[in-house]
Amino acid sequence: MNQSSSQQHVADLHGRTLGDLRVSVTDKCNLRCNYCMPEEEYTWLPKQSLLTFDEISKLVDVFSDLGVSKIRLTGGEPLMRRDLHVLVSDLAGKQSIHDLAMTTNGVLLNQHLPALYAAGLRRVTVSLDTMQPERFRALTRRDDHKHVIESLRSVAGAGFVGTKIDTVVIRGFNDDEVADILEFGKTVAAEVRFIEYMDVGGATQWSKNKVMSRADMLSALRARYGQVDAMASADGGTAPAARFMLPDGTTFGIISSTTEPFCSTCNRARLTADGTLYLCLYAEKGLDLRTPLRDGASHQELVEIVRNSWSHRGDRGAEVRLKQHDRQSFIPIQQLKNDTRLEMHTRGG
Ligand code: SAM
Ligand code: SF4
Ligand code: SF4
Repeated sequence: MNQSSSQQHVADLHGRTLGDLRVSVTDKCNLRCNYCMPEEEYTWLPKQSLLTFDEISKLVDVFSDLGVSKIRLTGGEPLMRRDLHVLVSDLAGKQSIHDLAMTTNGVLLNQHLPALYAAGLRRVTVSLDTMQPERFRALTRRDDHKHVIESLRSVAGAGFVGTKIDTVVIRGFNDDEVADILEFGKTVAAEVRFIEYMDVGGATQWSKNKVMSRADMLSALRARYGQVDAMASADGGTAPAARFMLPDGTTFGIISSTTEPFCSTCNRARLTADGTLYLCLYAEKGLDLRTPLRDGASHQELVEIVRNSWSHRGDRGAEVRLKQHDRQSFIPIQQLKNDTRLEMHTRGG
């Protein structure tokens, strides 16, 4: 539980109040999704630089003093981090954290569900881009489709609520499956969120013609279901997904980061597994919090470091990218190899 002073809110240069922290617990992953980790080889964060659970907990307290009440555990693949349930238990016990969730590729989820539930986790988002095992293998270079499906079939029975499925829609690859994935979502009580393919760091295979826009997704779904109604935004407008409803009451979301960015309401910060703070998915530079933490900075000193950083934040990465003509993948491969923190699998998505 957070023993420190009461929460204070901090706004950035565009008036966006810090509220949400994505905590990456590892940069390692057991899949090689083509839109995230298409290369043959990767450089990993040095082991000694990874934050311990105790260090993550201390930093979460710092962020929660600055208004963060929502934490999402991510990676890499968060379940590649040993004993993750120990961290979950600590975070779930913090009164300042009102919403604790985890994004996972689902490969190892089934076997961890009981421990995660016992530790206090109630919400997971599982990434699933195809209902076809062969496509899954082509996309991820691994043969784990059945494990992801099994996990999703078990989540509700294990007591989890508010489950989501994240689907990156890629033109020419899985754009014919949007309805199939929605239908599967209904069977496992999970709300699907379709994500536009983003040209973030790591997405070295990205090209504009592979992006299926929100508008095109809606057209495809209207062709299949007839009416698709827009719903009022949740979370006071800070949630990235625009939500929609089918005639039978099924709801789903679309995250249109590429064609209709939502930077104006973005309240999210990202902490990498080595304790680097990023204020935007597209930010090229982060702020090292591990060094001051390990050098003995006090809680209040760390609060001031983060407050100062957020209050000078002007990032609107996706909006800036949208204005670029002749848009190609964001960071050249050589630059990614020199700084693994530029990778999506390191900053957590
Ligand atoms: N490994 C976990 C997983 O895949 O769910 C968590 C980390 S992953 C980086 C978080 C999310 O980022 C996933 O839902 C993934 O689909 C998404 N993602 C990765 N690269 C992307 C890209 N180029 N465009 C859009 N979404 C992407
Ligand atoms: Fe795929 Fe997530 Fe791994 Fe990236 S981090 S390769 S999105 S499973
Ligand atoms: Fe937030 Fe950056 Fe994404 Fe815009 S591009 S929504 S500022 S993380």
